[in-house]
Amino acid sequence: MKLSFHGSVRGVTGSCHLLKAKDVDGHERQLLFDCGMYQGEQMCGSKNKEEFGFDPMDINHLFITHPHADHTGRTPKLVKEGFRGKIYMTEPCVGLSKLVLEDAHHIMVEDSKKCGSSVLYELVDLMTAFDQVEGVGYHEEIEPFPGIKVMFHDAGHVLGSAFISVKAEGKTIIFSGDIGNDNVPILPDTEQIHSADYVVCESTYGHRVHEGKVERSERLKLAIEETIKNKSVLMIPAFSIERTQELLYEINLLLKNELKTNIQIYLDSPMAIKATELYREYKNYLRFDAPILEEKDRDFFSFPGLHETLDVQSSKQINYSPPPKIIIAGSGMMSGGRIMHHLIRYLGDPKNQLLIIGYQARGTTGRKIYEGAKKVKIFREEVHVNAKITAIGAFSAHGDMDKLTRWISPKDGKTPEKIFLVHGDPESKEVFATHLRHKLRTDVVIPGHHDVFEL
Ligand SMILES: [Zn+2]
Repeated sequence: MKLSFHGSVRGVTGSCHLLKAKDVDGHERQLLFDCGMYQGEQMCGSKNKEEFGFDPMDINHLFITHPHADHTGRTPKLVKEGFRGKIYMTEPCVGLSKLVLEDAHHIMVEDSKKCGSSVLYELVDLMTAFDQVEGVGYHEEIEPFPGIKVMFHDAGHVLGSAFISVKAEGKTIIFSGDIGNDNVPILPDTEQIHSADYVVCESTYGHRVHEGKVERSERLKLAIEETIKNKSVLMIPAFSIERTQELLYEINLLLKNELKTNIQIYLDSPMAIKATELYREYKNYLRFDAPILEEKDRDFFSFPGLHETLDVQSSKQINYSPPPKIIIAGSGMMSGGRIMHHLIRYLGDPKNQLLIIGYQARGTTGRKIYEGAKKVKIFREEVHVNAKITAIGAFSAHGDMDKLTRWISPKDGKTPEKIFLVHGDPESKEVFATHLRHKLRTDVVIPGHHDVFEL
C-alpha cells in the first residue's frame, strides 16, 4: 500500500490524503480522504490552484470526514478535473457541506473579482459533485472494492463528523479528520480507536492543554455580565458549524438558569442560521448536557432575546440597537464576513469586548488581534484595537494534547506501528511528535508535501 499527503502538511488547512491499496484481485485502487481547501489566503496566487499531485481521473472514490472547508473545499475542483467516483460522507455532513461549499464559492467569486483572477471551480462543478455524493451512517460497512473495507466513526468534532477506518491488504489505517474536544455540551464523545496499524492524525492543538469545561462556561458568563454592566458590545466571531450552536446552547442555559437579563443577542450569519436549522433536523445525532424544555419561544438553539438576521437589511438594523448587546457573526477567523463590519464599528472602544472562541490561522485578522496587534487593516481601513480581547480555548472544536493521546492509544493495547502527524502548525506537530514518541514508544512521522510512504 502507498500513502501520500497532498495538503495540511504545511499548516492546518487543505487536508487531502491518498491511499493506494490492492483489492482481493490484486488491482490497485486509489482512495482519497478529504479534499480540503487552503484557507487564510486570497484567491490570487492561491495554493488551491496548484496541481493536486495526482491525477483526479485516477481517483476511484473520495471519503469526506466532515463538512469544514479545509476538508471539503477542493472537492468541486477535483470534479472539474475529471474525478467521477463516489463521494462518501455521513448524512448530516451532506447538507452542511453544501452550505460550506456554496459559501466558499461565493467568497471566491468576490475575491477573484478584486484581483482579476480566475475562480477555482464553477457552480456547475459543485452541483456535479453533489450528484456523486452518497450519504452513509456511522458503522455502516462500505466495501467499495472486494477486500477493501471502509467505516465512518463518530469524531465528536461537529454534527456528523467522522474519523474513518480502512481495512486493506491485512492492515488497518485510520484517518482522524478532526478530533473533537472533550465534554462538548451538544455532541457525543469521540469514539475510541480499537486497533490500527497506521494512524493519520491531526495536531491542531497537539502542543497544548485546554482549560476545563466549567471554566469555559464561567468565562462566557463573565463576558456577558461585563457587557451588561458596561452597557457595551460583546462580539463573538463564530464558526457557522458547531461553535455557533454550542454557543447558542450555552447562552440559552445561562439565560434560563443563571443570568436574569433581557440583553439582545444577534446571530448575524446567514450560513450559521442555515446550519442551525440542520442541527435541529439531525437532533438525533446530538447529545445534550441538560435537557431544555421546548416552549413557544425556546428550543435548544433559540430563546427570548435572540434575533436571527438573515438578510442584509436586518443585519444593518443591529447598528441601531442600543447596547448592551451580543453579536455572533462569521467568519470565525475574522477573515471576511459580517463580523468585519462590526469590528470596524466597535473594536476601537475600550468598553467593548471581542471574545475569541476558535483557532485563528496564520495570516488571518483574527490571529493578528489574538497576538496583540494594536491596529489592523479591514477593507483598506485602519482600525485601532482598543476593545478588550479575551479567548476561551475550551470552546475549540479540536481535542488537545491529552485528548488526542488518549484517542490514539488503542483499547486493545496494540500501539500503531506508525503515526503520521498532519493538520497543525510546525511547532505543534514537533511538540506532539516528541510527546507521542515518549508516551507510546512508536514511530511518529511528520510528512512533507507530496511525500509518499510504503505501508
Ligand atoms: Zn474541522
